[in-house]
Amino acid sequence: MCLMAHPESNSSSSLIVPGEATSACWSCGTMRAAHFCSACGKVQPPAPTDYFAFFDLPRKLDLDTAVLERGFYDLSRKLHPDLYARAGKREQEWSMEQSSMLNDAYRTLKDPIRRTQYLLRLEGVELEEQSMAATEKARATGGLKKQVVPPGLLEEVFELNLQLEELRAQKKLGEDDPALIEEIGRQKLELEEKYDALFDELKRCWSAWDQAMDEAARGKARDQMVDLLNRRNYIRNLVRDVNEVLEN
Ligand SMILES: [Zn+2]
Repeated sequence: MCLMAHPESNSSSSLIVPGEATSACWSCGTMRAAHFCSACGKVQPPAPTDYFAFFDLPRKLDLDTAVLERGFYDLSRKLHPDLYARAGKREQEWSMEQSSMLNDAYRTLKDPIRRTQYLLRLEGVELEEQSMAATEKARATGGLKKQVVPPGLLEEVFELNLQLEELRAQKKLGEDDPALIEEIGRQKLELEEKYDALFDELKRCWSAWDQAMDEAARGKARDQMVDLLNRRNYIRNLVRDVNEVLEN
């Protein structure tokens, strides 16, 4: 096992090589690996780290999920509570903390959207998604939700919202207009197609991000991803609105 520091290296596919051998093992004093000592194998106190570093992966989006999964199962096995039943209290706690971070990291990184959102957050981006809680609250209390319409969607959203208003008003009066319902259903279908297409577009941005050679290229990929995620998020909420009106 290589214990040499390898700053900025692309040891992307190897999960065994520790990303940061920063401190000494609490038990034997050897330079330790990330989660376990490379010499005595003892579990180490969790170090503050991000999910990519936890798996010793570079901050790249097009990651090999098979490698991620292998790393997950490997670490799960090594952190299994049964192995620590007779260990000291500290080791038991550390293994549990490591386990819980392992699960969070795995859940986040294996999901393509969550992975992207997480990376953007690491990059200091505040996503519209993070105001979701506020949106939910506004919905629940019948208040106004303040979601900014992404520029690329303005026109069709405007039209659709008018039609939804009309249908709501009709339903209140106990009427409905089959042509209007059909038209709204057609637009909903288009939105769903767009929603899927945005995901494909997002995946293309991953490559742009992963291969970016300088700050300018990274910034461009980052902005594109933010825009795509915001649009996707907006469409999801809109489709939910449409369903609500159609089903009520
Ligand atoms: Zn050790």
